[in-house]
Amino acid sequence: MMGGKVSHEYMLLTDVGEDTIVLCRDCDYRANMEAAPCLLTNEPGEIAPLEKVDTPDCKTIDDLCAFLKINAKQTCKAVMYQRNADDSYVIVFIRGDLDVNETKLRNYLKAEVHPAVVTEDSGIHAGFTGPIGLPAGVTVVYDRSLKGIEWFATGACEDDKHYVGFNIARDVGDVAYVDVAKAFEGGICPVCGKPHIYTSRGIEVGNIFQLGTKYTESMDMTYVDQDGSLKHPIMGCYGIGVGRLAASVCEAHRDDYGPIWPISIAPWHVQICSLRADQPEVAEQSQKLYDALTARGVEVLWDDRQVSAGVMFSDADLFGVPMRVVVSPKGLKNGTIEIASRDKSMKEIVPVDQAEGFVYDYVVKALQKLECRL
Ligand SMILES: [Zn+2]
Repeated sequence: MMGGKVSHEYMLLTDVGEDTIVLCRDCDYRANMEAAPCLLTNEPGEIAPLEKVDTPDCKTIDDLCAFLKINAKQTCKAVMYQRNADDSYVIVFIRGDLDVNETKLRNYLKAEVHPAVVTEDSGIHAGFTGPIGLPAGVTVVYDRSLKGIEWFATGACEDDKHYVGFNIARDVGDVAYVDVAKAFEGGICPVCGKPHIYTSRGIEVGNIFQLGTKYTESMDMTYVDQDGSLKHPIMGCYGIGVGRLAASVCEAHRDDYGPIWPISIAPWHVQICSLRADQPEVAEQSQKLYDALTARGVEVLWDDRQVSAGVMFSDADLFGVPMRVVVSPKGLKNGTIEIASRDKSMKEIVPVDQAEGFVYDYVVKALQKLECRL
């Protein structure tokens, strides 16, 4: 966040995205995982006396659930971090089936943290940590997912021991619950209230920030309003990630052989592939076509390397230029040039003297479809 309370992200949903997006199957709710609240309903369970039980080698929630024959939703897991500034421990207690979102935790603590390295002399019993018996100086955070559970199993801060029947209100007292959990598949939508949350990967292509008066106040920038009073202007900003945009377009417009650039943003409109450019007739026709199209404003990439047709065509696929024009000795013998679109929707054999007009018209029409011009 650059400041201000609201930011909007423009996301392309794709499996290769670096971000996780939380969406609702029932309504238009969409949010970044960092911003999505984790909402759920808990089964309270039966109130029972607190009891310390032997749980040999049960260091993970899976081990504990298998051993006690309970569901992970009936457990309280300890997730340990350390503040970057002084390595002091921060322990998050969270429902056993959920995960901590570190960005939410950082925002809550207003401090950078990293996953903890628990040392022997820390007094922490990794794998058996619970709310009772922690060493002094540890910051404890209770995730909201634990609220309303009257019975759960949690570590007893002793090796090979857990508590069952744990009840935070009774056994710890009043605690402040905060939301630092990742939203999860089947969670409750904060807009429509239905348990239809799901997640998807996405690329953040752009964003806007409503900065408000954060910077104009801190820099004391003012203007005189109609009523004569001094006010701080409201600011906003936006950004398009150009590199991310290119990656997103490639991801959305491609086949197995490479990108298929939309003609409006393609680095070139047309690629001329000259097979056997060492032959004078091929070189001459290619040059003519290149000059004529370039003179009319068409952007042309000309491949006149001495390589095989296979290499030249697979490279052309990788470049992703929307149109490919093939000038070859075989075609010229028949008085023709082959023209094809990168998306494979068009392939024509055109008389040599009509090639320039054909390509020009095709480019202009393709651009018009996207409300662009040469
Ligand atoms: Zn919804």
